[in-house]
Amino acid sequence: FDETFRKEVNQVAPYIQGETEDEVRRRYHLDRVVKLGSNENPYGPYYHARQAIRRSVEDINRYPEDDFIETKRVIADQFGLKPENVGLGSGAGNIIETIAKMLLNAGDEVLLTKQSYRLYREVSKLMGAKVIEIPLTPGFQFDLSAFKERLTDRTKLIWICNPNNPTATVTDPNRLAAFIADLPDNVWVVVDEAYADFSDPEQLPDLLQFINHKRVIVLRTFSKFYGLAGARLGYLLANQQAITAYDTVTEPFNANRSALVAAIASLKYDQKQAARTLKRIQADRQDLAESLTALGFTVAKSETNFIFAKLPESAPDATTLSRQLMAQGVIVRDGTPWGYPRHLRITIGKHDELSYFLEQLTAIL
Ligand code: PMP
Repeated sequence: FDETFRKEVNQVAPYIQGETEDEVRRRYHLDRVVKLGSNENPYGPYYHARQAIRRSVEDINRYPEDDFIETKRVIADQFGLKPENVGLGSGAGNIIETIAKMLLNAGDEVLLTKQSYRLYREVSKLMGAKVIEIPLTPGFQFDLSAFKERLTDRTKLIWICNPNNPTATVTDPNRLAAFIADLPDNVWVVVDEAYADFSDPEQLPDLLQFINHKRVIVLRTFSKFYGLAGARLGYLLANQQAITAYDTVTEPFNANRSALVAAIASLKYDQKQAARTLKRIQADRQDLAESLTALGFTVAKSETNFIFAKLPESAPDATTLSRQLMAQGVIVRDGTPWGYPRHLRITIGKHDELSYFLEQLTAIL
């Protein structure tokens, strides 16, 4: 967008999507394109979720039930919570936007890091909040002491992404829990756990302990672990008052019939398949990390379904390298927009996709 237009329509910087396979196929006249750029799960959705989606098409002339109670109940059961602690949206992205709408007024202060999911910053700015950016530590942790130092009476909201996108890393669970326990009562904290299902549970703090007495919102999605990115369903876990407020500001029917039933089926009947897939993704993640290390990359310890790798000295910068890979039919993410011009983010795709990526990468290097 040009600057004048952006101001006219109240727009902030556009959210940058990954390239699609079709675009790349056409642009470079390729037969094979491997998409490792959007942290999708190549194995999902699983059997029962697929069946549920097929069946749901029969009723797609009808609006979904507007209170989403059945889906909320099944999600709540997973965590030992009540349905009143669960809110839904068309993907975690939609929820992030709604939370900003619900909480932020012009002049409120928001703390976040730029080296994370970009939407937090954009929606906060859109609401007229003052965004304060606090860099990650060199070890890719949220710099919680720096966050603490920047708290003021006007701090309204803190966005934390754990595990973090794009770095794939987690922040120390004890430090994160202590940080949240210590927050003053005027501050909300959103912990985006979109990738938590891929993590070692010991690496994540128990956030549910805070839900009923702190202003904590935990965010999750069916897009990643359950392979339902195209169906668009995410959820938030929070105290009952927050969920009521959330449900009040969402537009009606902000989740679709197919996604709602797919979510129920995933949680009730597809857990075994999901667990098997998790093992495979974790094993491939380990193999990919080792292969990249052998090629001279430095790989951050990943707790997600993607890897964040620093290029060897001899390699060109990440923008050049990701373009070269794209011309060979491999889509990965360039770290430059996050401030990491020598890092690539690579999704753990299928085995043969990762081999193809490594082949092309080796040929370029
Ligand atoms: N949060 C994070 C950290 C993400 O990486 C993503 C997707 N890339 C989302 C939220 C949004 O996910 P969705 O809208 O598909 O649920």
